[in-house]
Amino acid sequence: MRASYSYQGVYDLGTATDPGTRLEHTWGEAELVAAGYPRHPSARQSQQEGTQRGRCGVCGHSVRYVALLRGHDLRAFLDVCEPCCATLTESELLLVDLTREFRELRYHAAREHGRWRARASFEQQCEQEPALLWASYACNLIATGGRHDRTLRTLASIAGQAERVGAATQSQLAYARALAERIGLEPSLR
Ligand SMILES: [Zn+2]
Repeated sequence: MRASYSYQGVYDLGTATDPGTRLEHTWGEAELVAAGYPRHPSARQSQQEGTQRGRCGVCGHSVRYVALLRGHDLRAFLDVCEPCCATLTESELLLVDLTREFRELRYHAAREHGRWRARASFEQQCEQEPALLWASYACNLIATGGRHDRTLRTLASIAGQAERVGAATQSQLAYARALAERIGLEPSLR
């Protein structure tokens, strides 16, 4: 017997910082439409306009994480939330470890959010600290074997570290200022 649903993928519709996953969802939908499966009427607006949510085609709830499914009997595609996926037993979904798929999606979202926050706070610090701003450009200024390359690499590494954690420490800032001054970067900022 044919499974009633087959699985296209899981998607995070709720992220403003990583629009790539929404785009993948749109491509997944386009693929299904091209295969002759239109959007199911129960999920008329599966990706709700103006919100970072989707609508579950089974329970109708507004949800952030969805599985995109092809409904063979429905001859349509729909987004389905995690709890509803577990109720679709006549389904190829049983072959997929959906718990893991959804867990990885949430883990990725949390990591991206953390990265985004760190970058935003680093950029804010750059606005107040010209030496740090220069340090963030240092890797672009490195000419192979140039006189200041070693210093620029140190600056780039300070900026890289600060960007990952969200801010440079006071001693990193003092060091970056001294290095920038030593190679003549700092005066040009004033
Ligand atoms: Zn649901």
